[in-house]
Amino acid sequence: MSHPNIWYPFAQAKTELAPIKIKSAQGIWLELEDGSKIMDCISSWWVNLHGHAHPKIAEAIYKQAQQLEHVIFAGFTHDPAEQLAEALIAKLPPGFSRVFFSDNGSTAVEVALKMAYQYWVNHNQKRQTFLAFEGSYHGDTIGAMSVGGRSLFSDVYRSLLFDVEYLPFPDTYFGDTLIEEKEERILEQLRGKINHSPEQYAGIIVEPLVQGAGGMRMCRPEFIQNLRKIADEFNTLLIFDEVMVGFGRTGDWFACRKANVTPDIICLSKGLTGGTLPLSVTVCSEKIYDAFYSDDPLKALYHGHSYTANPLGCAVALASMELLIENETAFRQMEQLHWTHLQPLLDHPKLERLRVMGTIAAIDIISEQPGYLNPISLHIRQQAIAHKLLLRPLGNVLYLLPPYCITADELALAYQGITAILETV
Ligand code: PMP
Repeated sequence: MSHPNIWYPFAQAKTELAPIKIKSAQGIWLELEDGSKIMDCISSWWVNLHGHAHPKIAEAIYKQAQQLEHVIFAGFTHDPAEQLAEALIAKLPPGFSRVFFSDNGSTAVEVALKMAYQYWVNHNQKRQTFLAFEGSYHGDTIGAMSVGGRSLFSDVYRSLLFDVEYLPFPDTYFGDTLIEEKEERILEQLRGKINHSPEQYAGIIVEPLVQGAGGMRMCRPEFIQNLRKIADEFNTLLIFDEVMVGFGRTGDWFACRKANVTPDIICLSKGLTGGTLPLSVTVCSEKIYDAFYSDDPLKALYHGHSYTANPLGCAVALASMELLIENETAFRQMEQLHWTHLQPLLDHPKLERLRVMGTIAAIDIISEQPGYLNPISLHIRQQAIAHKLLLRPLGNVLYLLPPYCITADELALAYQGITAILETV
């Protein structure tokens, strides 16, 4: 039931289904008040990696809470932050060296935008325009919304948002034969824009390989590699928003590693703490950091939050990274597992545009009314609960994004449920 003192997110309270109360959770299972269980097929809000209430994560919180729960991160530092920074740098591709902490995906993006913008200011250059992609989602704060694709989420705030130049996103799917031409057209458009006034652009921001909230739209690594080439050619910055795709989601540690591309700045959150505590980082190269390192106080990055580098969050993130290292095969092998269940759906009369990357599988339900407000989403959410599954389609886009601890049998169960639900569509 909806609580009278809570304003729930992302919902029109008047028409939204009443929220379901979760009493506890273990592994991939959420337990309801009546003791029944539903399978978390989307890792809650795409955050959970190792399953719920993981003992190693719980232990990391407990130990850290007894030692140092929090301390101001201005003028002070602590082991969990330093160790986490080292662990992240070790797993990111070579070239990254500085980790800036904040609390969630949106703020990680805000920090990246401020870093890129001020990078040019500190170099006495007036590069103020960001290039971004249609259909992208970078968060709900004003800056993050500004670089996100304009959508029904941001429409009402339009006059508050700063101007950004957009490019189409070359999303592709299994059996797409036209993708190379599509990519070439977009790259030409990009070159044309930058070539016209190269001194104008602060950077390009992209969700590499998978646009999440925009509909689990996937692109080829080749496209991302070409973005790097163009950014280098025209001396602009490349920002990867890996808030969703980081930490194994694409089948490799990071999308940048999978695509073999090193951006100048990368944003990470969601899976950073294995889905347990709010924490995020914006990581950059020494080239960026150097532009701020000066005797001039005005060249500093004046950004920080009360809970910056919270020690509990950092300790949990370290524990989560250890679990990822121990269980690396789980996220590397999930694509294969998805395929065994997706193949029979290839010819399904109600489905199209099947795509899969690492742990993420998505498919569109054929509909005359694509988009987030498609009522099919609500129908599927309800049906899913009846089938003991947590699914939350993005409009007509049905997707699975499970915790990595899901077993082959449990994944088979999820696909069985989906097949049954499709009968009702
Ligand atoms: N970037 C991407 C790619 C995301 O998927 C999200 C969240 N869905 C965000 C940024 C924003 O993260 P948060 O909700 O933690 O602010």
